Amino acid sequence: MTAERIDGKAFAAGLRERVGEFAVSFEQAAGRKAGLAVVLVGEDPASQVYVRSKGKACLAANMASFEHKLGDDTSREELLGVIDKLNADDAVDGILVQLPLPDHLDEQEVIARISPDKDVDGFHVINAGRLSVGQSGFVPCTPLGCMMLLADRLGDLSGLEAVVIGRSNIVGKPMAQLLLDANATVTIAHSRTKDLKSVVKRADIVVAAVGRPEMVGKDWLKDGATVIDVGINRLPPEEGKEKGKLVGDVDYGEASEVAAAITPVPGGVGPMTIAVLLRNTMVAAHRNAGVALEEGAL
Ligand code: NAD
Repeated sequence: MTAERIDGKAFAAGLRERVGEFAVSFEQAAGRKAGLAVVLVGEDPASQVYVRSKGKACLAANMASFEHKLGDDTSREELLGVIDKLNADDAVDGILVQLPLPDHLDEQEVIARISPDKDVDGFHVINAGRLSVGQSGFVPCTPLGCMMLLADRLGDLSGLEAVVIGRSNIVGKPMAQLLLDANATVTIAHSRTKDLKSVVKRADIVVAAVGRPEMVGKDWLKDGATVIDVGINRLPPEEGKEKGKLVGDVDYGEASEVAAAITPVPGGVGPMTIAVLLRNTMVAAHRNAGVALEEGAL
């Protein structure tokens, strides 16, 4: 079997376009643009790239983007003060604090300060709680993007055996919750799981969110499995090259021989994350401004 390549890049482009159309009708109804504020503390180069691309994506989707760049030595009070102002600002529908924060700042405290109604990253404990009891709230962007790809490919997931490798609060746990809500039979595997290979082998759906390059090989997978590779790992550069290749947690070439479908890295889950961030912000804008949005429209 040669697996079908799940084209996350194309799916994400379609979602961004739809969000852009909703942004135009939102602006007509609300008399203002939907807005996302991104707060960056410090000079981390990867974070700067992420923040820039989030800002650009907002503008391309007819939304307003507000960037707050703060120095490495920003105090706790200063940062919490910025969040308080954004919480109170009617032009801001979504607030995202780019992680990681410098060591002297407590990420949990900072996330807890964001209004749950503007927490478009879905990291606030209120939104995590809503997800776990099946109430509507904001769901973290990466797992929601994975779910959209799975629903698009498989339709009804009822009764399917799903294994999520990784139990982080931002990917593994919410992913498992979403699969459970979709009536899959879910196992969360992690670094202490015994005989991980045989656990993964029984899965119809595998979601790998570990951070270990090409860990999942051909002999880990059931014939016909659907594989969602969340991992982003940079290999050491080959001779004469400046940068190493980006690979996922799954050995794409090997897995393609047994899986029915698989997301590539890059071009799979990665592009979905920003697209879902825009989608969540658009949903927040409708709720905050009291403009109706049909359930499931986005
Ligand atoms: P994390 O480090 O917080 O969690 C990793 C998880 O993997 C842990 O729960 C741990 O128990 C598990 N793990 C570690 N070693 C293991 C092993 N040998 N066997 C089984 N499980 C093991 O990471 P995270 O934030 O959840 O991210 C996971 C990966 O996904 C990383 O590569 C990250 O870069 C990537 N990621 C991608 C996106 C995206 O937009 N595509 C978004 C978030 C994270």
